[in-house]
Amino acid sequence: MQTQTLLVDAQAPQAAVLTAAAAVIQRGGLVAFPTETVYGLGADALNPVAVAGIFTAKGRPASDPLIVHLADLDQLELVVAELPPSLTQLHDLVPGPLTLVLPRHARVPRSVSAGRETVAVRVPAHAVAVGLIRAAATPIAAPSANRFGHTSPTTAAHVLADLDGRIDLVLDGGPTAVGIESTVLDLTRPTPRILRPGGVSLAQLQARLGAVEVAPHARARAGSPDARVAHTDLPNIGAAAPGMLERHYAPEHELRLVCGAPDAARAWIAAQVAALNEQGTTVGVLLCTEDIAQLQPILSAYATLIEALGSETDLAQIAHNLYAALRRLDARAPQVILARDFGAEGLGLALRDRLIRAAGGNVAWLDNPPV
Ligand code: AMP
Ligand code: MG
Repeated sequence: MQTQTLLVDAQAPQAAVLTAAAAVIQRGGLVAFPTETVYGLGADALNPVAVAGIFTAKGRPASDPLIVHLADLDQLELVVAELPPSLTQLHDLVPGPLTLVLPRHARVPRSVSAGRETVAVRVPAHAVAVGLIRAAATPIAAPSANRFGHTSPTTAAHVLADLDGRIDLVLDGGPTAVGIESTVLDLTRPTPRILRPGGVSLAQLQARLGAVEVAPHARARAGSPDARVAHTDLPNIGAAAPGMLERHYAPEHELRLVCGAPDAARAWIAAQVAALNEQGTTVGVLLCTEDIAQLQPILSAYATLIEALGSETDLAQIAHNLYAALRRLDARAPQVILARDFGAEGLGLALRDRLIRAAGGNVAWLDNPPV
């Protein structure tokens, strides 16, 4: 298969481009497209053959459910069997990086939800994504447009690096804004539960819904002392929790993550840089500009490969840069990549979750480890 690329204006998508892409969706093909979070790999959510193509192209296990993308909340009734009253409290977060798990309408093929009675839905805040859904006149199932287990794509070039020759079309609308995936919120439980932290924070959800739980596997990653799950058990939990497989968003080279207060984390990184270099290991660091400034003497003494994520005072910027910087650093082929977390407040929780998964559980907790 030859993969075609079409440039598209991210703010004002050209009608001809959307029509061409919609025709591919309508005949059961696969189209990668930008959303505000990451690039998605889309197919007609109501066509089981098209949906099967997503799993094949990505090498994604059939047990990992897909998110169904809608043009607006009016389309919910197409794919959801019953709307919970709490939905009205979330209207100002839609469209946006928030995925809601709701009861699945029988119209949605079981394969979309990996056999579950629920369906995950999201209205993306991106003119290309919404324009494509409207032009195709059908909900679009779309996981991230990468090979299963790889780092999610935030540019069309990232999509092609993983999926060239495996999908019909990529719409190139430039880099995505948020840069990490949506928050997944399960609204089918008595208390709403975060299954995956993401672009919308726990505090934003609590402000609108009151009590909000964080699923045990995500709690362990948050390093909260009440987490009941040891992070060493996370590989086992991956099987039980959909899409929460431990090694995910993974670079090719070994990533070691340190979680803790900034000063202690920087001291840990400095010690690792020195120790690894003494063993003759090439080291790369994925750090914020403040870390890089403070560690400058040791980083230059050991000719460390450096990728900057932006300032630690702007977690949105760090999220925006995370996957692209990780891919660039990985391509420079350090034997070990060192990174640190950015706390658990706001986007920090989602950043930590992605970094822990990229590290495949290779995490040093300096304080407040999960117990
Ligand atoms: P991706 O689109 O690649 O970011 O993956 C979508 C993720 O959404 C899955 O891996 C799950 O974590 C989550 N998800 C999708 N559908 C459901 C569902 N019905 N129940 C629970 N989680 C879901
Ligand atoms: Mg994914």
